[in-house]
Amino acid sequence: MKEIAPSPPPIVRNQFETIRELFSKNVVPSYGRFELAFSHGAGSYLYDVNGRRYLDLGGGIAVCALGHAHPAITEALVEQSRKLVHTSNYYYHEPQGRLAQALVHLIGPGKMFFCNSGAEANEGLFKLARKFGHDEGRFEILTTENSFHGRTLAGISATGQDKVKKGFEPMVPGFRQVPYNDLAAMRAAISPATAAILIEGIQGEGGVTPATPEYLLGLRALCDEKKLLLLMDSVQCGHFRSGRFQSFQRILEGSELETRNLEPFLPDGIAMAKSLGGGFPMGAFWIRAPYADLLSAGTHGTTYGGSPLACAVGLKVLEVIAKENLEANARSTGEFLKSGLQLLAVRHPNVIQIVRGLGLMIGVELAPNLAKLPGDPAKAQASRFANLLHPEGLLVIPAGTNIFRLLPALNLSRAEGEEGLAIIESVVKKL
Ligand code: PLP
Repeated sequence: MKEIAPSPPPIVRNQFETIRELFSKNVVPSYGRFELAFSHGAGSYLYDVNGRRYLDLGGGIAVCALGHAHPAITEALVEQSRKLVHTSNYYYHEPQGRLAQALVHLIGPGKMFFCNSGAEANEGLFKLARKFGHDEGRFEILTTENSFHGRTLAGISATGQDKVKKGFEPMVPGFRQVPYNDLAAMRAAISPATAAILIEGIQGEGGVTPATPEYLLGLRALCDEKKLLLLMDSVQCGHFRSGRFQSFQRILEGSELETRNLEPFLPDGIAMAKSLGGGFPMGAFWIRAPYADLLSAGTHGTTYGGSPLACAVGLKVLEVIAKENLEANARSTGEFLKSGLQLLAVRHPNVIQIVRGLGLMIGVELAPNLAKLPGDPAKAQASRFANLLHPEGLLVIPAGTNIFRLLPALNLSRAEGEEGLAIIESVVKKL
């Protein structure tokens, strides 16, 4: 694996207050931001405006697949932008065709649609389900409790967390949630109006909960039996994060199936985004072959989706992942991190309760009511814990109230993993 040399810290200027002021005057306050402002990055490190270095185990929420400022991404951006940035989808161009081919090859027979974000990718799947069920009057999509599917109106209607819906009611009709990993509950929820089931292979925002193999196989059989589409939101857990291209491929390994021939068990639609562009905003969805032409000319579209620039970057991300064997790295470094954290949970059960996840998608559940945890008690424990790591030079991502997530670059090295574990341990010991 190629080592990325960190660049030297910038000239020290205390710009933080100025930047925060610009935000408080001019930016919609819809995010609870940490008190950090970054100026640049290199590999798995970010540098704040004061020149302080942080090991980034959050990866921009599972986005920066190759870390920060990867030279191959820079090169793809520069080269492609010299040739052609945008054409609109009225015309053909090579990068979109090639990226579609590469993604179809990684999943199975089907076709791709390119858009700009995860929420937009899910919107496409919702429309696919509506088109699929339309002539029989079926429109309903069943999703799961604790899921997260994006911040558009249909995205929050699909999401199984009340906090994202609150204040925006009424929801878009046609979405209902049932408990995750509960096949009987899903079967019982199916109504004559149901057209599709949508799940995450590993719930991300909900706290890093992988689906069980039995659940995935059971849902496929249930969808076949009831003539429903099986849709997967792989926005966070996809793109090799689990140690395979798709998390369902990883989860179904070791089940009684022939592990490399998953074709009969493929879902009917898959939403992607985040790591797909390695930081360049991109989304996409794959549709399985029998349904791949349902969204016919004029039924769906987007101005920017699948631009030559975006697709050139997407192709480069895939090329580097293959060349540097980052699929295997996600497994081995992920396993190293997970077992290190599990050891911490054994040593400090009063602070860390459960560690779960696959590959480089790891969730750490903190014990409830950590009495010694500093910070505003009105704020979630996970955010307060993340805050404690900042002075030590480490970034993680909170999930829910009590869980923090590690979603680092897929080229995270063992040494960087060790550094992260040591920092987490030093903070845990103080609690
Ligand atoms: N689906 C899942 C599983 C996600 O984790 C996210 C974002 O965190 C989304 C959808 C929404 O993606 P985006 O923020 O790119 O719209």
